[in-house]
Amino acid sequence: MAATYDAIVIGGGHNGLVAAAYLARSGARTVVLEGRYKTGGAATTEAVWPEAPEFKVTRLSYVMSLLPPTIIKDLDLDRHGYKIYPMGPYYQAFPDGGSIKLYADDAERNQESLSKWSKKDADAMPKWDAWLAGLADVLGPLLLTVPPVIGSHKPRDLAGTLKLAWRHRGLDVRTIADVTRLMTMSIADLLDDWFESPQVKGALAVNGVIGTWAGPYAPGTAYVMAHHSIGDIGDGHLGNWGFQEGGMGAVSSAIESAARENGAEIRVNAPVARVLIAGGKAVGVVLANGDEIRAKVVVSTLHPKTAFLDQVGRENLPDDFRADIERWKSRSGVVKINLALAELPDFIADPGTQLQEHHTGSVEMAPTMEYIDRAFLDARGGKPAIRPFSDGVIPSAFDKTLSPEGTHIMSLFTQWVPSDWNEEPHTAELEAYADRMIDCYNDLAPNFKSSILHRDVVGPYQLEHEYGLIGGNIFHGELSLEQLFHMRPAPGFADYRTPISGLYYGSSATHAGGGVCGIPGWQAARSAIADRKSVVRGVAARKPFRRS
Ligand SMILES: Cc1cc2nc3c(=O)[nH]c(=O)nc-3n(C[C@H](O)[C@H](O)[C@H](O)COP(=O)(O)OP(=O)(O)OC[C@H]3O[C@@H](n4cnc5c(N)ncnc54)[C@H](O)[C@@H]3O)c2cc1C
Repeated sequence: MAATYDAIVIGGGHNGLVAAAYLARSGARTVVLEGRYKTGGAATTEAVWPEAPEFKVTRLSYVMSLLPPTIIKDLDLDRHGYKIYPMGPYYQAFPDGGSIKLYADDAERNQESLSKWSKKDADAMPKWDAWLAGLADVLGPLLLTVPPVIGSHKPRDLAGTLKLAWRHRGLDVRTIADVTRLMTMSIADLLDDWFESPQVKGALAVNGVIGTWAGPYAPGTAYVMAHHSIGDIGDGHLGNWGFQEGGMGAVSSAIESAARENGAEIRVNAPVARVLIAGGKAVGVVLANGDEIRAKVVVSTLHPKTAFLDQVGRENLPDDFRADIERWKSRSGVVKINLALAELPDFIADPGTQLQEHHTGSVEMAPTMEYIDRAFLDARGGKPAIRPFSDGVIPSAFDKTLSPEGTHIMSLFTQWVPSDWNEEPHTAELEAYADRMIDCYNDLAPNFKSSILHRDVVGPYQLEHEYGLIGGNIFHGELSLEQLFHMRPAPGFADYRTPISGLYYGSSATHAGGGVCGIPGWQAARSAIADRKSVVRGVAARKPFRRS
């Protein structure tokens, strides 16, 4: 006899856990099926060196920002261990001994720091911050909006499109122009309009290329910068980027704990092979070991190619949708390097191995726009970057749970290697790439190389084969313009529903993803619950899942 639940969630990444928590809260008997030995997906803390289990790294994702206050509050995540240390400034040191620090919320100190490089840029910075804040007011709430089916003539869809247009009736000509610029320009061109100093532009370009298979001169990278810079998504002010105590895996654990408290069952080592379909409806799943589990509602949070092409099956999908998913772009050329350090980097520009403010934020390797672009051009030309770009952080500056007293963990999010490195392990070349990355930091902090106790290099092949991130893309799909909002993951299906009745979709490949924001999982659960409410009428409408 197949086991039966009200709802099955495929994938125990943070989105799957959020979906499960909301479904269980609504009364659904819910099970999460996670393929790996642990939950968390890309939000994971792991002890990766068997010889040194006392060091714990946030192996893939490394900083928090976009988790909405609504989810934190609904799931009472603080009580379940969600605790964020706000990050310090962006920091970039230069080989000639100078450095730049950029503060998220301290105009006076930005003025002082930037004036060393350009008086004009120091004066421009508060205006830039205000400009971005104005755009965040428009774009932020959109992250919590279910995209309408633009172009559909069905009355319900037309109503959705009109509702969205009406909500934005207050926008003026200038704001629409600014949003258009943001959505279409390259981060390089946009920054050229505002700033003059290469150092300032390099520092501000970082967010435009994170996780992106595009250099800073590519149209659309201005939006990527905005996605990573929005600090308020419309339901309360979010902090700046911050470190979760215990690493990113502790975010997943907090959500998992909330899901369990609401009654969800979580199974690990339970890879799903297929979604069961009968009469055009999802009715359950088959595990890789052949076990069947049945439910009225199935929520998938896997990469779209796995979720639809492999698990639903091409033969069960409408032609247009199948073609859209086949064309889904999922490249990135990211390499994550995790390090255990005997001491903090001693920068020529800001000497000392004692903990200082510049160790507490992001410790960048993005000295100029040209440097970042060169790294991309190397990879696009088929070779790993000679001098890679890096967004580095040292979470142990705050979080003492990650490493023994006096030692540190440093996480380097680096780019780029060629986009097809997901197809082969490229182990030796990745090690050589990591050596070069470390050399770049060593040029700025000469104790860096000798301070490394252990290192862990995760490239696109491992991202795909161990974590299910097809193509090595960190967001289950590129944040390119044709894959945003009503197009994410496919036109007509951006409302967290799919062409298969009873099957919902809540991975980072839906609107508001990627990032550790939980919005896709939350929205997928909301869609499922709303649909159940319209099926189960009367008294039960307040309790959409009748116990099966
Ligand atoms: C290197 C890297 C750095 C990043 N840095 C940041 C950052 O600093 N901040 C940020 O906000 N975001 C960051 N991201 C992005 C963010 O981590 C992801 O967008 C997000 O974690 C994805 O969550 P998810 O739940 O949608 O998917 P996933 O986390 O991918 O979860 C999917 C789950 O499904 C499981 N699974 C796969 N196949 C099966 C199967 N057949 N059966 C059952 N289970 C299966 C997987 O094991 C996984 O646990 C980063 C990502 C990476 C890779």
